[in-house]
Amino acid sequence: MKMTTLTLGSIPLLALLILRCPAFGADPDAKQIDGFKDTQMLPGGKWHVHDPDRPQPAVVTPGASFSQSAPPPSDAELLFNGTDLSKWQNSHGGDATWKVLDGYMEVTPGGGIRTRGKWADFQLHVEWASPSPATGTSQGRGNSGILINGLYEVQVLDSYEAKTYPDGQAAAIYGQSPPLVNACKPPGEWQTYDIIFESPRWDNKGELVKKACATVLHNGVVVQNHYQFIGCTDGISSVVPWQSLSKYSAPHPPEVFIELQEHGANPVRYRNIWIRHLGESDAQP
Ligand code: MG
Repeated sequence: MKMTTLTLGSIPLLALLILRCPAFGADPDAKQIDGFKDTQMLPGGKWHVHDPDRPQPAVVTPGASFSQSAPPPSDAELLFNGTDLSKWQNSHGGDATWKVLDGYMEVTPGGGIRTRGKWADFQLHVEWASPSPATGTSQGRGNSGILINGLYEVQVLDSYEAKTYPDGQAAAIYGQSPPLVNACKPPGEWQTYDIIFESPRWDNKGELVKKACATVLHNGVVVQNHYQFIGCTDGISSVVPWQSLSKYSAPHPPEVFIELQEHGANPVRYRNIWIRHLGESDAQP
C-alpha cells in the first residue's frame, strides 16, 4: 500500500486507531475495553488515569423507578421542563440551540449548553437516556456528561452491557473515581442522576482549603459517596489535558454553572432537570 503523508486531518483517525488498539485493552475477552497504561498514576499508586485493568464495578439492576419524573420540590429551580431552553445558553452566552422534541432535549452538534444560573452547593436532578439502538463502543457509546462549571465531570455514557475504562464509565467522576457499582439501564430507557455537589473553596491567599465533593445516585443507587475531587476533570477544559492527572485550577468562585456535554455524534437525551441550593442547618429563613 502506498504510504500517504500524515496530515492534521488524519489525527482524529489516528487517535481512534490508538484508542481502539487491543494492546491498550487489558482483557481480550472483554466486550470492549479501551484505556491507557502509559498515563500517570492516580493517588494511591495502584491505577493509571483511564486504566483498563482497574476492576469493572459490579453490575446492579436498579429498581424500576426511583426519582424518575420526580416533580421539583417547592424550593427548587426547574431548569428544563421539556419544552424550552430559556434557562440555558451556549458557551458564548448566546441562546442554547439543542433540539427540543417530545418532552426532552437532545444533544445537538455545535457544543455543550450550560445554565444561565449558578449555585455554590446544590442538589441536582437530571434524567438522561442514551441513544437506542446503541451504536459505538467504549467512550463512543452515548457519551455526554454533567460538567460542573465546565471543570468537574460526572460522566454520562451507555455502560449497559458495554465496557470502557472504569474511571470513564457511566456515573464515574471522569478520570478519577469509577462508580461503586454499575447501575446503568439499557439504551433508550430514562435514567436518573441525583447529584449533591459542594464547590471547592480557597482562602484569600489562594490555598485550596476544601476540595470539590460529590455524592451521586444513579437510578436510586449510591455510586459516589461524598467523593472528594483530586482536581478538575481531564479533557474538558484547558486546565487538565485529556489523559493527564487531575489538578485544581486557579481559584474560582463557589457559584458554578451546570453544563451538559456535547461529545461528538452522541445524541443523548435529557429531561426533567431541577436544582436546589443546599442550605445550612439553623440558617434564618
Ligand atoms: Mg463525557
